[in-house]
This record gives sequence, C-alpha cells and structure tokens, in this order.
Amino acid sequence: MAGIRESAAALRAAFAAVTDAPVLHAFAVKATPLVPVLALLNTEGIGVEVASPGELALARAAGVRPEHTVLDSPAKTPAELREALALGIAVNADNPQELARIDALAAAGTASPIGVRVNPQIGAGAIGALSTATATSKFGFALRDEGARESVVRMFLERPWLTRLHTHSGSQGIPLARMAEGVAAVYALAEEINAAAGRQQIETVDIGGGLPVNFASEETTPTFEEYARLLKREVPGLLDGRYGLVTEFGRSLLAKHGTVLARVEYAKVSGSRPIAVTHAGVQVATRTVYDPVSWPLRIAAYDAKGRPKTGAETVQDIAGPACFAGDLLAEGRSLPLLEQGDVVAALDTGAYYFTAHYGYNSLPRPAVHGFAVSADTVDFSLVRAAQSAEEIVAEAGGDRAGALLG
Ligand SMILES: *Cc1c(COP(=O)(O)O)cnc(C)c1O
Repeated sequence: MAGIRESAAALRAAFAAVTDAPVLHAFAVKATPLVPVLALLNTEGIGVEVASPGELALARAAGVRPEHTVLDSPAKTPAELREALALGIAVNADNPQELARIDALAAAGTASPIGVRVNPQIGAGAIGALSTATATSKFGFALRDEGARESVVRMFLERPWLTRLHTHSGSQGIPLARMAEGVAAVYALAEEINAAAGRQQIETVDIGGGLPVNFASEETTPTFEEYARLLKREVPGLLDGRYGLVTEFGRSLLAKHGTVLARVEYAKVSGSRPIAVTHAGVQVATRTVYDPVSWPLRIAAYDAKGRPKTGAETVQDIAGPACFAGDLLAEGRSLPLLEQGDVVAALDTGAYYFTAHYGYNSLPRPAVHGFAVSADTVDFSLVRAAQSAEEIVAEAGGDRAGALLG
C-alpha cells in the first residue's frame, strides 16, 4: 500500500512542479480494476479513467466522485453516454458519429465537460498492439488525414460547449520524446481552436497516460518527474497556467506494486531442460505468455519457506498450469534450480497481469492481498478473494444445464 501511495504522491508532485493550473490525475482503471486499489488512489486525490460500464461501476463502488471521472472508449453505446452525461462525468468523444449522439443528448443540458479525442498520428512504438498513435490507429480523430484538421476546428466552432482535447499517444515501448511530440501536437491544435474561436474555448487538455515501465530491474525509470520536466521544456505553453490538465496513467502507477506468487507444483526435466511447473501462467500473465519477446518478466526464486533461493544458476523453464505448450512464464531463464514446493515470484505485475485475468482452462482468478510493512511486521489485507469452483460454474451457465436439451 505504501508503494502505491508513493507513486501517487510522485505523480502529483511531478506535475505540481511544472504548472499552477488544476490537474486531475485519472488512473486508467483497466490497468488494475480492483475497487480497494481505486479507493486507495482516491484518498491520494487520484481519480479514474474508465472505458466501459464495468469500469465505471468499479469506480463508483470505490467512491470516486463524478468530477474525478473521465470516460474514454471507442465504442460507447447511447446508454453509456446517457449515463455519463447524467452523472456529469467528463466524456471524450472518439469519432464524428459519437459526437452526433452527444449533440442530441447534450442539448438537454449536462454538467459533463466534453472533449474530443485526437490522434496526432506520430507513429508507432516498439509494440504494435499498444501503439495508439499510428496513421491507421482505431482511436480518435486522425489529425493528419486530408482535411481532418480543418474539420476538427470547425467541429469545435460549431459546438461552443466542447471544451476539451484528449490524446493518449504513449504506451509501453514508446519513447518519452515521441509522447511529448503527441502532446505538443494537441497543444498546437488547442491554440489553433482558441484563436479561431476568439476566446479560450479549450480549457483543459487531457494528455492521456502511457508512461513506460522498466520491467528489467527494481529501478523506476522513466519517472513522472522526468516526463513532466520534458513536457515543460517541449510544450511550455501547455503548462503556463492557461490550461487545466488531465492525465491518465495506468501501468506506471501500479506495475511495480504487484507480484504474482506461485508454488512449484512439480519440477521435471524434458529433453535435458529443467522445467518448474507452477500455477502462474497464461491466466495471470497473458501478454507475457503470448508475446514473451515484448513482455519479458523478471522471476525471483524462493524456497518453500519463502527464503531467497541460492545455489548455482541453471537454465530452466518456468511453466504455467494451462494445457498448451506455450504456457511458459519464462523460457530458458537462469535461476537457482527450482524444486518441488519452491515459490516463484513474477515481479512488476501490479498492472495488466493478475488484474486482467484470462479464463483459459477455467483457471480461477487468484486472491489478491495488499500488504503494509511496519517496524518488523507485515500486515496483509485481502483485496480480492480467490474465485471458487462454484463461481466458475455459475459464470459458465451452471444454473441452466438443461438449456440446450430441448
Ligand atoms: C490504456 C489507456 C491509458 C493508460 O495507459 P498506460 O499505458 O497504462 O499508462 C490511458 N488512457 C487511455 C485512453 C487508455 O486507453
């Protein structure tokens, strides 16, 4: 818990040091959709960025206020938009058809600040699936397409109630300089719209999240402070106090604060390769298992009593429990030889790992525990109970076994 608070404080301090304008830090719920985590962040003054009715429900259950909530999503239904505008939460429209729906709803009046998501089309990062600002990205209004910029400006002039611009152009694998370029492009558009309107129509710029995380060591790098300073240098006008800001960091706030712990059920050898078969695989580390080159995880080895393993490093595989050959948490990793009963830890998994469960093989969602360290004790608190077999059955139509029997 202390680590999460420290990251939240570092984020607040980083932006407070570069602008006097109001800044809402909205945590991207998809990174760690756990109500107690959202509630903890809420006490640190961190709001939420939600992208589905489920995420919005989690945020509300955590007590996050509408003023601290931002709704983004490329596929908002009329019902979602209606709910958002009724609650007064901020909405960023993704495309012209969504904006047309909002036109009809906003006519009745709403407290929601409304913005438009733009794609500055600055290009991809190292991981294609996470690159939101490519020329053909599915997100937002593509700014560099023929005639697009003019039509976006016109869209604002026709709608005096549109007061925000949004971009989310960073992500894992994208260099900071590239992220700053995306923010600079959106700032330039805000200035252009305000000049065309003859008043400050764009009041707030939402710069999204996407600060990359260092999965290679304990070090937190890059830091929020480095990114905020870079923005101050590259886009000073955005931070001179005229614009309110929204940020939407996810991974960089939580990744370092979660660890998957799994027992080695069996230790075996196959083709002279030692293999530790554990309970952590594709269900808790989906990205790593399906794309190990983009998402390698550090693994730490402990004995059955939880003491760090010592001994000669041996090249071995750490396998998960799922029934397909590729279900490996780490392949060919050098670690002290793992034995039956040992414990492996997959580090830096606080965002997008056990919180983005994958239901393969009907493997249960594991329990999540928070911990607080004081003097010489560690206190654990249950954040989420493990999924039971009864729950798995219920979610698989268990109460309608006869549904297909005529
Ligand atoms: C996923 C997402 C974020 C958070 O991205 P991170 O890489 O976890 O910081 C922020 N904004 C939007 C719109 C997103 O889709």
